[in-house]
Amino acid sequence: MSAMSGSGGAQIIDGRALADRFRAEIRRDVEQLKARGRTVSLDAVLVDGEPGAKSSARIYAENQKAGCAELGIEYRLHVLPHTATYEDIAGRVLLLSAEERVTAIMVHMPLPEGIDPYRVQSLIDPAKDVEGVNPANIGNVVYDRSSLVPCTALAVMKMVDSTGVELRGSEVVCVGASNIVGKPVAILMMQREATVHSCNKYTQDLAAMTRQADVLVVAAGKAGLIAADMVKAGAVVIDVGINRTVDPATGKKRVVGDVSFDEVRAVAGWISPVPGGVGPVTVAMLLRNTVDAARP
Ligand code: NAD
Repeated sequence: MSAMSGSGGAQIIDGRALADRFRAEIRRDVEQLKARGRTVSLDAVLVDGEPGAKSSARIYAENQKAGCAELGIEYRLHVLPHTATYEDIAGRVLLLSAEERVTAIMVHMPLPEGIDPYRVQSLIDPAKDVEGVNPANIGNVVYDRSSLVPCTALAVMKMVDSTGVELRGSEVVCVGASNIVGKPVAILMMQREATVHSCNKYTQDLAAMTRQADVLVVAAGKAGLIAADMVKAGAVVIDVGINRTVDPATGKKRVVGDVSFDEVRAVAGWISPVPGGVGPVTVAMLLRNTVDAARP
């Protein structure tokens, strides 16, 4: 069982424990590929922030490098200066897309102001696009033809599957419809023959929708959006939100999701926490995709 029991109400879907399990599988796959003469590698493009303070993308890249090393994945970081133009970034992505030894590419966000990520992401070879951000890969997800699914959406599916809940015939409600999370999750749920409802900030009566959900996936970026009276008893609740807030009791900064965890936990059957839920599984899914992209 990949989840652990909570002290009351819902069982907690432990993202860190699940990610550990996936990492062990990935490490085995990397070793098997190596034994067959394949190197598993990840090439990441990062446009540096203004000189001075270390950007959060830099910190993320350093963690990524360590995470890859732990699993035997080669990591190459291509840093461009903060003055990089669209042509500079596009040129690097095209070069990596064409290079035979490169099998997995990702482009760190944010890009400098005025550079449209969509245009850059469209240039990544779809077979090497391990974040699943090339529009061709989103199309492939619709056709059920791609193993390179956007990492957070893939993480959501793995977390729901860890509960053992049958998706076919379930009512699934996705709150949030971004291209990178809400829409791909809805499509993946449709492929599993769930009945899917997609909500957004203009949804008229959100609570009436969410109360129908056997599986509720929340990716809106609004702390406290989902209260206990919006959740069906026994539902699976996956909280994708990441919101930086200040704890009113202690005055300390903290990260919370979109779901009021303590109160919803008393009603739901399963719930993923923030932090320690979708985040670590998303990181593992990027590495899962990296290994899949290295397969001959
Ligand atoms: P986004 O910010 O691009 O879009 C938000 C979506 O939520 C929109 O469809 C909007 O209509 C909807 N929404 C906003 N307010 C709403 C409301 N009051 N009621 C109903 N719907 C509402 O979304 P995103 O990039 O998918 O990010 C969503 C959240 O998920 C953010 O907190 C983000 O930080 C987090 N996130 C987490 C991970 C992870 O790995 N854990 C990955 C990606 C995003």
